[in-house]
Amino acid sequence: MGITYETKIQCDFCGKKDEEVKAVVVGINKSCICDQCVEVAAKFLSEDDKEKGGS
Ligand SMILES: [Zn+2]
Repeated sequence: MGITYETKIQCDFCGKKDEEVKAVVVGINKSCICDQCVEVAAKFLSEDDKEKGGS
């Protein structure tokens, strides 16, 4: 009945496939994020942290 398992992992955030990026991280709920989106998220978090810290 055409049940196919996804062999290609795809980033849920930017839609890029694992072959288009360096790495795609798959979460427990099968949501995926690529290294590029992780970088953006990390940047966002660090900026947020900087704002709060104020140094
Ligand atoms: Zn991505």
